[in-house]
Amino acid sequence: MLNSTKAQPALSPVATILHELDIAVESDEAKPAERYEDPADHAPTNVELLRPVLAVRVFTMIAVIAPPFALVAVMVLAWGGWFNLVDVVLLGAFYVITALGVTVGYHRLFTHKSFAARRPVAAFFAFCGSMSAQGPVIWWSAVHRSHHQHSDKELDPHSPHAGRAKGFIGMVQGFLHAHMGWLFSDIRSDLERYVPDLLADRMIVRINNAFPYIVLFGLLLPGVIGGLYTMTWMGALLGFLWGGVVRMCVLHHVTWSINSVCHIWGSREYASGDHSRNNPIFGILAFGEGWHNNHHAFPASARHGLKWWQIDGSWIVIRSLELLGLAKKVRLPAPERLATRRLA
Ligand SMILES: [Zn+2]
Ligand SMILES: [Zn+2]
Repeated sequence: MLNSTKAQPALSPVATILHELDIAVESDEAKPAERYEDPADHAPTNVELLRPVLAVRVFTMIAVIAPPFALVAVMVLAWGGWFNLVDVVLLGAFYVITALGVTVGYHRLFTHKSFAARRPVAAFFAFCGSMSAQGPVIWWSAVHRSHHQHSDKELDPHSPHAGRAKGFIGMVQGFLHAHMGWLFSDIRSDLERYVPDLLADRMIVRINNAFPYIVLFGLLLPGVIGGLYTMTWMGALLGFLWGGVVRMCVLHHVTWSINSVCHIWGSREYASGDHSRNNPIFGILAFGEGWHNNHHAFPASARHGLKWWQIDGSWIVIRSLELLGLAKKVRLPAPERLATRRLA
């Protein structure tokens, strides 16, 4: 039940969850009480928290159904020579911006607290992540923390393994469930206990609740740019399709693949207690998120590509922010922990 006011007695278990997941413990030693204060004082009401969950289902439904139609439309239009460099640039630029919003912002900053960022930087990444249409930031983080706590076990929201039948059919069913089927199954109703720190942050709650409008903005902006650049309505339509709809579809599938592909296909380098894998293809496409076995072994690490050759675009961004003084308290696994968890 999503009643935050009744969550008060459960503060201790909540703190236990955050401690278990190693969230903002080491990096916030100076003020642990502030981070773990009772979320009931600031938490949005039931309705506010429920609305984004419903929204994510609606947006996901659109994300699943719309892209094939949009792609056909784009292909037909492109057939006549209406596909040009500006559309490619819009697709690439909005893919990079929204993907980093998810990987650097939603995932490494808000879900795992693997570094601390200045407020405008945090707001920027929350905004860019919201444009991806993968759900409001608080809901996304709650689902993902739940995934880490129960990874590949019964309560994991999107495991391709837990509760699945053996054999090929079971694997296909597991893959489809982990990829996107889970979005249409019953989503756990006690998710708010995973995110007391985010619910207590007014700025994050505000961006969280503006989610539908930010998604709309992210779809329309490439259209406006395409229209202004070409000074034609067709340019605006193509900008909307390539930089908005197609970009959203591609990123959705890349992100979903971390949950499905990266728990099935790839190598295992560290003991993580689950089926997470390092998959180089998604290490590149998802800006480092494909080094998923590394990530499950060391969830609080801001760097997922732990070897020099494990390309991690998000880590490059976080390290750059740190060098610019915009990020601090960047967390990395200690060498001895790397050694003890390494699989033979
Ligand atoms: Zn995982
Ligand atoms: Zn994670």
